[in-house]
Amino acid sequence: MYFTKAHHFKGAIDDPKAPAPAKQMAQFINVVMGSGCKGAVGEKVYSKIPCMAGPSPRTWCLGLLNVLRTDGPAEIAWECPECGKAGVISEFD
Ligand SMILES: [Zn+2]
Repeated sequence: MYFTKAHHFKGAIDDPKAPAPAKQMAQFINVVMGSGCKGAVGEKVYSKIPCMAGPSPRTWCLGLLNVLRTDGPAEIAWECPECGKAGVISEFD
């Protein structure tokens, strides 16, 4: 399980001094959150986000992430149905 607080990565994409892993994580958060917001709260979204786009340690997995947005508290949970890698993104406001 990966627990990520989105605000820690806010601005990392545009910050030339941000380390590469932080940029990658920020990008991952962006795509997962964008996908999660396509569904209603509590509605699982079958995204096209490849599992291998997820945080390290990267595994060569061809699964596509499922994304679920909840609002009590506001969080976005993601999981790979193939390898079981999963995480929760919170504090994105
Ligand atoms: Zn996977």
